[in-house]
Amino acid sequence: MTLAARRVVLASGNPGKLRELRALLADLDLTILAQADLGAGDVQETGLTFVENAIIKARHAARVTGLPAIADDSGIEVDALGGSPGVFSARYAGSGADDRANLEKLLADVADVPDPARTARFHCVMVYLRHGLDPTPLVCDGVWEGRLLRAPRGSQGFGYDPIFFVPTHDCTSAELEPAEKNRISHRARAAQALSQALREHYYRTPERRG
Ligand code: IMP
Repeated sequence: MTLAARRVVLASGNPGKLRELRALLADLDLTILAQADLGAGDVQETGLTFVENAIIKARHAARVTGLPAIADDSGIEVDALGGSPGVFSARYAGSGADDRANLEKLLADVADVPDPARTARFHCVMVYLRHGLDPTPLVCDGVWEGRLLRAPRGSQGFGYDPIFFVPTHDCTSAELEPAEKNRISHRARAAQALSQALREHYYRTPERRG
């Protein structure tokens, strides 16, 4: 008898994230569905940490759909600003601000910070809840270290990519090929960690029988 793959909802409206996660979790016996296709919409991200916001999103999707849920929350942390913008990365220049306005506010806020102190990192927390009342979510994270430049470079990516210098590749994340960014980014690292945790805790790859 063939068992149907188990269904999981992704608490995001971003088709890029869905594609990426399906590829990264391809060897688990899972069908990952978009929350919008199951009648779940966005929820207010009221947390002050990535973990809180990821859990808020996953809990909402799990409650509405009755399925296990995966969610992530991410942003950039700048050491000279005590970790800001952090969870406010998408709305740093105010609610409704676009990527350009957020990036320009960040450049202005660190204008006086000398080069050696311009360390920063992208951070992504990815969680998995078995159901809306799961008291023990799986929580995984991925970190991508870099430095802030003084002016944007490159046209790929989004958000703060044009000012995020990646020392291992000697360019900004907006100058990386998208496939390479998706291989080494904070999100890729968090998804790889989640893949491993899911395999250990809940989903074993189907045994091959000869
Ligand atoms: P979200 O977790 O996808 O909602 O991302 C939150 C915000 O963090 C985005 O709007 C961006 O400002 C920033 N951010 C997260 N990941 C990246 C990235 O890979 N490149 C550039 N900015 C990012």
